Amino acid sequence: MAIGYPSNVLVVSDYEKYSFKERIPYRIDFVLSLGDNSMQVLKDVYQKYRKPIFAIRGNHDGKTPFPDGIIDVHLQVDNYRNWSIGGFGGTLFNKDRGHNMWTDADAEYLLDQMPYCDIFICHSPVARATDKPESYAHQGSKAIRKYIREKEPKFVYHGHVHKKLGTMIGNTAVVSVYGYKVVHLHWVASVGDPRNPRRPFLQVEGRVRTPGVLSQHLRLLTK
Ligand SMILES: [Zn+2]
Repeated sequence: MAIGYPSNVLVVSDYEKYSFKERIPYRIDFVLSLGDNSMQVLKDVYQKYRKPIFAIRGNHDGKTPFPDGIIDVHLQVDNYRNWSIGGFGGTLFNKDRGHNMWTDADAEYLLDQMPYCDIFICHSPVARATDKPESYAHQGSKAIRKYIREKEPKFVYHGHVHKKLGTMIGNTAVVSVYGYKVVHLHWVASVGDPRNPRRPFLQVEGRVRTPGVLSQHLRLLTK
């Protein structure tokens, strides 16, 4: 099984400022865009880092094709630095009109054909994990939860709920990103649990976390 090279990943989601002027004290290896980011923000990020941006669309994004340098991974898997990166854009229907919305039945049909990937990005939250069930517009997807259960991606990042949250579903770390976040991804099987080398091992904000304290580290990620 391929193992991703250690990477500093800039994750941007539901970024509400007009342009991207953050000062990030790391070399960035690639970028994940989780939807509801303006084209201006994506262009700024590309100009600044000149690294591939793997992206899916949010419910506010319309249908216009992404500009150069942005790789649309909706229902597709791409490879970079030995990581396989795939995704699924949009959310459950929360109004009559608009783009990038689906029913869970549609999503299930589409995701049944989606292969495994190491890093799965989506806009929608995950049912009974990182959703806001009390809010009609922020329901989680059962179909995405089923995909995670069956295919076991290592990392799932999503947006939409405007909340920093993290949880584990089996061996998958599921993280809700709001604004931006730098994650330091390592996959070091030899350092992980030797009986279960597929367990995630990550380093977040410069601090190494062993698999045993993953939940702690998810809290760190979601601060
Ligand atoms: Zn959204």
